[in-house]
Amino acid sequence: MCGIVGYVGSRNCVPIILEGLKRLEYRGYDSAGIALVKDGLFSIDKKAGKVADLVQHLSHYNGSLSAQLGMGHTRWATHGEPNDINAHPHWDSEEKIAVIHNGIIENYSTIKTKLVREGHVFRSATDTEVLAHLIEEMYKRTQNLASAVRHALAEVEGTYGLVVLSTHESDRMIAARKGSPLIIGVGDGENFVASDAAAIVDHTRQVIYMKDGEVAEITATNIRTMTIDDEDTEREIEEITFELSQIERGGYDHFMLKEIHEQPETITNAMRGRLQVDEGTVVLGGLRDVQDKLLKARRIVITACGTSWHAGLVGEYLFEEIARIPTEVEYASEFRYRNPIINSDDVVFLISQSGETADTLAAGREAKQKGATVLGIVNVVGSTIARESHGGVYVHAGPEIGVASTKAFTSQLTVLSLITLMIARAKGTITEKHAQVLSQELAAIPEKVSRILAKTTEQIKEIAEEFRNAQNFLYLGRGANFPVALEGALKLKEISYIHAEGYPAAEMKHGPIALIDENMPVVFVVPKDGIYEKVISNLQEVKARRGRIIAVANEDDHEIEELADFVIRVPRTYGYFGPIVNIIPLQLLSYYMAVARGTNVDQPRNLAKSVTVE
Ligand code: GLU
Repeated sequence: MCGIVGYVGSRNCVPIILEGLKRLEYRGYDSAGIALVKDGLFSIDKKAGKVADLVQHLSHYNGSLSAQLGMGHTRWATHGEPNDINAHPHWDSEEKIAVIHNGIIENYSTIKTKLVREGHVFRSATDTEVLAHLIEEMYKRTQNLASAVRHALAEVEGTYGLVVLSTHESDRMIAARKGSPLIIGVGDGENFVASDAAAIVDHTRQVIYMKDGEVAEITATNIRTMTIDDEDTEREIEEITFELSQIERGGYDHFMLKEIHEQPETITNAMRGRLQVDEGTVVLGGLRDVQDKLLKARRIVITACGTSWHAGLVGEYLFEEIARIPTEVEYASEFRYRNPIINSDDVVFLISQSGETADTLAAGREAKQKGATVLGIVNVVGSTIARESHGGVYVHAGPEIGVASTKAFTSQLTVLSLITLMIARAKGTITEKHAQVLSQELAAIPEKVSRILAKTTEQIKEIAEEFRNAQNFLYLGRGANFPVALEGALKLKEISYIHAEGYPAAEMKHGPIALIDENMPVVFVVPKDGIYEKVISNLQEVKARRGRIIAVANEDDHEIEELADFVIRVPRTYGYFGPIVNIIPLQLLSYYMAVARGTNVDQPRNLAKSVTVE
């Protein structure tokens, strides 16, 4: 789930590891730890809290801490509360083997019971600690660290990205991956391992993406990758192309704000080289091989979690209304456990920013096994979903560091729009002329987003100030803007911790209306479209009960001023593409609400960026 950095070489690895852990902070975590091997001995320190707390704790060494082999971890607790003891690394009984681990060992309790019976004493409440003790047992038999790790992993069920160090073999790291990303950084006389390129990109751009089921034995000068059964695997060294500056804040107070402001560019990137505006056509290389399946699909199922699920809901409108393919959207966590009916002429889209979302990945595997064509819409290139799908489209939003997703969402919507156009053109559900108009509409969106960012920020800051003490918020919208209401509410919850609900506007009278009084702020997404008048009626109902109305409305809508307390103006946009534009002020609103309330915008409590556990 969280962060891993390891080093073997000739430099002092302490600053390398601590810097690496800081670069991984964006993933969200609750504790951090470091293990160093020096002169055949371990030095292990771990602390609940932030990397800064660990650094503070290390100050008692008065700068004497130094080693050429070490590893660090940021933990996001799944088993055992976040405290010093449960923080990683974890040791074996003799303190000769240490483990850091991302993921979950599902059968840990069975293994633990057996090991305890054999005399092992456990220190923590984590699932991870069984790995250290199990490897200890295996080492007694094999007297070889890599073999011991392989044998231990053969008994383990669950997911892991892990690194093992031992004073028995103090010149190497053993890394292993199953279901949790891990990369090896290849240096000159030194090597690295990390859960994420950001941690090591300062030192090397040559990396090996470990595959599921792979184990690696890494010394300063040699890397061997193998299967759990000790068969050599092929290693492909790839070059990291993104710039570190891309993953730093770039002058903004928070990553989230930076990412909100990147959207004119990221939306453009999602369309770049794909949308031919003049012809009204779309070329998507990653779907070429599955084009036939897509065009013949009897049904599309979109499965995702969180913000990506909201993007999927907009996708349903796009696919059904424009491409005329029946579409269903389902939470991945539900889909995977209910024996869904899937046919070979179904196409299943998986949407995930990280491409590692455990529930979405599992839903995809289930669908694949049942014979569906499985396609990914992901941001992280080379991620597990991307590799396991039959095809797909990268959203190209660049690294998203703020835990609350913003630019990945609008890029997902853009890609869904492109896929829709491609299918609609090929199937002839829209005319060439119509396709050209829609292409122009899409191409015009980045400029509209820039305009919103430039024109509404000051006003939104004032609105945030006005409502900073609110306890609840309601978000209402209809049609393709209903998912926008859901997403607006989710953003507010995630970072400001204000309770917020999104509803289809007309549904309000079936329950939520009971909540409306002069203390209830209600955000309406009300563009001038075919159902404008209907939404206005709902708005009237709120007004009659003295609810306080914030409307996101078009620039040329003058009627709304009479009704709403605050009107945030957005440019008119073709209906089903509207969500890409209409969500922008709601992202800003949640951001400035969180700032006004002084919460941790980029790393909201209890949340993690890439949810690789179910
Ligand atoms: N399951 C492990 C724990 O709770 C690892 C958590 C993580 O991925 O950070 O300690």
